[in-house]
Amino acid sequence: ATAQIGVTGLAVMGRNLARNFARRGYTVAVHNRSYAKTASLVADHGTEGTFVASESMADFVASLAVPRKVVIMVKAGGPTDAVIAELVPLLAAGDIVIDAGNAHFPDTIRREAELAAHGLHFVGTGVSGGEEGALNGPSIMPGGSPESYAVLGPILESIAAQVDGVPCCTYVGANGAGHFVKMVHNGIEYADMQLIAEAYDLLRLGLGATAAQISEIFAQWNTGDLESFLIEISADVLAHTDPVTGAAFVDVVLDQAEQKGTGRWTVQNALDLGVPITGIAEATFARALSGSVPQRAAAVGVLPAHAAAWDIAPEDRAAFIEDVRLALYASKVVAYSQGFDQIAAASAEFGWDVDRGAMARIWRGGCIIRARFLNRITEAYERDAHLPLLLADAYFTGVMDDGVGAWRRIVAAAALHGVPTPGFSSSLSYYDGVRAERLPAALIQAQRDFFGAHTYRRVDRAGTFHTEWTGDRSETAL
Ligand code: NDP
Repeated sequence: ATAQIGVTGLAVMGRNLARNFARRGYTVAVHNRSYAKTASLVADHGTEGTFVASESMADFVASLAVPRKVVIMVKAGGPTDAVIAELVPLLAAGDIVIDAGNAHFPDTIRREAELAAHGLHFVGTGVSGGEEGALNGPSIMPGGSPESYAVLGPILESIAAQVDGVPCCTYVGANGAGHFVKMVHNGIEYADMQLIAEAYDLLRLGLGATAAQISEIFAQWNTGDLESFLIEISADVLAHTDPVTGAAFVDVVLDQAEQKGTGRWTVQNALDLGVPITGIAEATFARALSGSVPQRAAAVGVLPAHAAAWDIAPEDRAAFIEDVRLALYASKVVAYSQGFDQIAAASAEFGWDVDRGAMARIWRGGCIIRARFLNRITEAYERDAHLPLLLADAYFTGVMDDGVGAWRRIVAAAALHGVPTPGFSSSLSYYDGVRAERLPAALIQAQRDFFGAHTYRRVDRAGTFHTEWTGDRSETAL
């Protein structure tokens, strides 16, 4: 038994993770349900490090040094449970099972409890960065027991992306915390992508800019506050020419965005917790709208627009581009602020004690939402670990001070010209809602008391009240 770590499940992600471990000098036990993938990993990459290949799960487990550390990287859901069921009888108390797939966090909570009953550590781990990240350094979000992190953490930190010498991996919290944070990461990714797409659409329609011109604008933005992997690849995609038609590649792609479900999970959980993550929700629904084929077919050319034609004078084009940039940055800050609110709410609900500043820090490299401005989030939580609203941190109020005027102009222009901007618009509504001294929720609560005797509280007196709406309209203190 010599292997320091094992990986079972050797499709693209597991294969690359195993190679990453091996390249860092670990002896890696490798296993896959069907042996072909194991054999090809060793045949293609055996020279990159030391692999111990096994055909059976029993041999695989036997090849691991104690306490055994087994990374499961298989299809999320039933397959993960199947692999766990096969592993458990082969393991001993103190061994560590790591699920690095995209598990739904309630499954992770359940599995952690089941394995803890066997004396095993179960580490549900978010891994972001796709196959490239898995090979060269992903962002890693491990949950589970602090004891398991003490053993496993250094290994994971050594294969994670590094930014300024700091690994993009840290202990997140008990049981499902790691997969939860990975889920919210993906939700934020949905929002980020939607906002970039809206900026692209506004530049396309407002200025009549070509994909190549917008690519240049994005490349320029990527040198400032918006610097991020997603802006960078968007510039790349927009610069790409379709080899078949010679047209801009983006113009030949069908305009229907798909999803694997993590955005949906994020929104479902936010509804459960009562956290308004409007940016992520709108981004998820925008993908759903793009795929609403019969509805779109019924609407195109039928629904009246009464939208103004764009007419931006040449001398105003630069100002429009800057307005779009500021609106994008402000909307992005809102989406992150909402996502971090959701992490705080779940952390309180499940007792995870997640350090939000540390989450922003481990997202700076390796993962899809890696971005310069994540440093700003870490700094904000360093100033106040219990910050109730990220937006209210001094740096971000400064961002809003600079950008909110532009943001209003862009959302108003989009509405007047009939351009859908669910991300920009809903984020601005959230912003105005959360900063409002008084909301029309007062009327809603009064309506609820009227039809359902749901009671209300008053601004001027403590207690709970009900008005006899159908009687003499007298008020009762309850
Ligand atoms: P897949 O999700 O395509 O899963 C294929 C692997 O699962 C194969 O090794 C397959 O074995 C194994 N498998 C499927 N069913 C079973 C079963 N019943 N018992 C045992 N093994 C089974 O692989 P990926 O590499 O794309 O992804 C692995 C995990 O990583 C997934 O959870 C996925 O969601 C996540 N992922 C994460 C990404 C990220 O950026 N973090 C990106 C992509 C994926 P066999 O070869 O025998 O069929």
